[in-house]
Amino acid sequence: MKFAIFGDIHANLEALETVLTHAADNDCTNFVCMGDIVGYNANPVECLNIVRDMGCPVVRGNHDEEASSDAELNGLNPLARHALEWTRDMLSPEDREWLLNNKLVRQVRDFTIVHATLDTPGAWGYVTNKFDAMASFSYQFTPVCFYGHTHTPKFYVKGDMVDAVDGNELDIEMGKKYFINVGSVGQPRDGDWRSSYAIYDIDKQKVTIHRLEYDLPKAQTKIVQAGLPEMLANRLALGK
Ligand code: ZN
Repeated sequence: MKFAIFGDIHANLEALETVLTHAADNDCTNFVCMGDIVGYNANPVECLNIVRDMGCPVVRGNHDEEASSDAELNGLNPLARHALEWTRDMLSPEDREWLLNNKLVRQVRDFTIVHATLDTPGAWGYVTNKFDAMASFSYQFTPVCFYGHTHTPKFYVKGDMVDAVDGNELDIEMGKKYFINVGSVGQPRDGDWRSSYAIYDIDKQKVTIHRLEYDLPKAQTKIVQAGLPEMLANRLALGK
């Protein structure tokens, strides 16, 4: 059985459709969404409808939360704030309620999913190094946990010590723990513009990160036409 683990879609419809098609073509029968469905790009409603209609497990991201509330948008960079204000106008009350009702942490079969961190999931901290990963491992009760939020795919492994492992493939070994960032579907930030998501093959106990080209010019044109900052279109091409 193969799970497609995907998140940080950020309203990028072209990227989401590309990822879901690739997952289906690669025999994924189960889907799990890591949150941040909306924010930044031009198709929040379309992306939300696709994920909601899939009926798959979803965890709430910080952008999902911010886009669904009426609270002041403090502490965000100006680009994120502009996009969130625009996104709020696009979403219906039902959309907002659905986004807000998604849990922060979920267990799916024998693995866990969380958008940001396991130690303080609603505080939206970033796991970017071994020490951050160590804090999350203290609250991880399954061998594997997937997360997102940094928009950068990464494997952390806890054996005798915590190690960061690069690469696109990882074998899950008995007795170890894994904290795995699946990267971002709709706004990668690791210098590679292509969409990122993971396939978890439960039978082979293997996790593979896939990078996919999508219709970038189309996504960029929509961002500009929607009146969103052009910078948001430009950054997609840079992968940051
Ligand atoms: Zn995000």
